[in-house]
Amino acid sequence: MIMILFLMLGSTEVESPRTWRLDYFVTYGPNTAIYALDRVLEEPLSWPSAEKSYLDGLAYGSDGYIVKTETGEPWFSRGCSRVSTEWTITGDARLKHRTFHESIRFPEPSSKVTIDVLRRNEENQFVTAHTFHVDPSDPLIDRSQSQTHEAIAFQVNGPPREKVDLLLMADGYSKNEEAKFRADAKRIIKGFFSYEPFKSQQTRFNVWGIFEPSQHSGISRPSTGIHHDTALGCSYDAFGSERYVLTFENRAWRNLAAQAPYEFVVMLVNNETYGGGGMFSVYATLSVDNSEADYLMIHEFGHHFAGLADEYYTSPVSYEAPAVIIEPWEANATALLDSKNVKWRDKVDTSTPIPTPWPKSEFETHAREIQGERQAIRSANGAEHLMSSLFQKQRLFEMDLLSNSPFSSKVGAFQGANYDSQSFYRPQVDCIMFTRDPVPFCRVCAHTLQGVIDWLSTPAQQPPQ
Ligand SMILES: [Zn+2]
Repeated sequence: MIMILFLMLGSTEVESPRTWRLDYFVTYGPNTAIYALDRVLEEPLSWPSAEKSYLDGLAYGSDGYIVKTETGEPWFSRGCSRVSTEWTITGDARLKHRTFHESIRFPEPSSKVTIDVLRRNEENQFVTAHTFHVDPSDPLIDRSQSQTHEAIAFQVNGPPREKVDLLLMADGYSKNEEAKFRADAKRIIKGFFSYEPFKSQQTRFNVWGIFEPSQHSGISRPSTGIHHDTALGCSYDAFGSERYVLTFENRAWRNLAAQAPYEFVVMLVNNETYGGGGMFSVYATLSVDNSEADYLMIHEFGHHFAGLADEYYTSPVSYEAPAVIIEPWEANATALLDSKNVKWRDKVDTSTPIPTPWPKSEFETHAREIQGERQAIRSANGAEHLMSSLFQKQRLFEMDLLSNSPFSSKVGAFQGANYDSQSFYRPQVDCIMFTRDPVPFCRVCAHTLQGVIDWLSTPAQQPPQ
């Protein structure tokens, strides 16, 4: 009921265009990048953001797109980090080809537009990799999509165009588990809004849900021989990493997501095994029944919402190390190529040394021991509570070590970040993007997240004096 009211407000009080989506295939591999149009369609709902946020001035993401008018004026743009582009930095991409399905969403245009697909060059600058042309009079544009699901209104604070619209989607829930999904979602939402900067900005968010049952309970986990055909297609072991949960079923999840107003999507996977993932401005995933589910939500949302880098570097990942170190585009990692000009210098006290000392070798020695135990548990397919106990042991050690280090409250440049112990630096000694410690986002991450909230939502009106 609430949803219907706001959707009506969206279309009557303020003229909101419909949401359009261009789906395409991209094939990458050795010396290959081939883009092919799948289709353009009109989604059932209105565009969920205000016109003030049409242009993305933030410049985050490994990818992006610009929609231009007939005169070549940029009209709409977004940064994002695509699953396909992430695959290109795994070892597999040097040896074989792989095709991905991807989407570009934008408000309905009133005349012909071109869409430049952006990728980063060797200097991390955006360049146009491909251009699509869209003519609104084209009869091939599919306008037949209708509303088949009623979105669950978990928390509605205003019309979608004025709020950040977060959509929680169910994956690996059987048809008898809708009540579990609703309870899981409420628990995750509660944890999420207990954490800054989301806590003090709660009224600037709407939270929606979409429940589509899967045939089986739980998602695929190929490393243990489990393959389930689920609603969203999420799977562990993405790119060969046991804890990495992604879906490659872009068309399936996009069609379901289109049933709710959304800018951000978190897929709740109905599993206990520790795992998750976060693609900037595409989607995030997490295993809801894991004891670390609240941490997974906050950490993966940091990737998904603001393109924050992983500040950790002691857990194994499938990405190949870059051949040449250049300044990362992520707001919370730096190569410190100019130590006099730290990326986040407005937050650094003049008395803080750069690079900033911290108990790095002690931290690394302990982290290596934990990684060894972690791999042993996974190799033996051990019970999940063993992993939870190990994480707790790690947390106690790291909290004690980092909170008692001499610059623990300072912003500086701490060596070790972005999967690299030497080449990259992070802003504070600890952060939710670095460890699973119960610490806030570091000040650079918090500031970056706040910037996205300010961009995509309208602050509440001040009450009259
Ligand atoms: Zn941080």
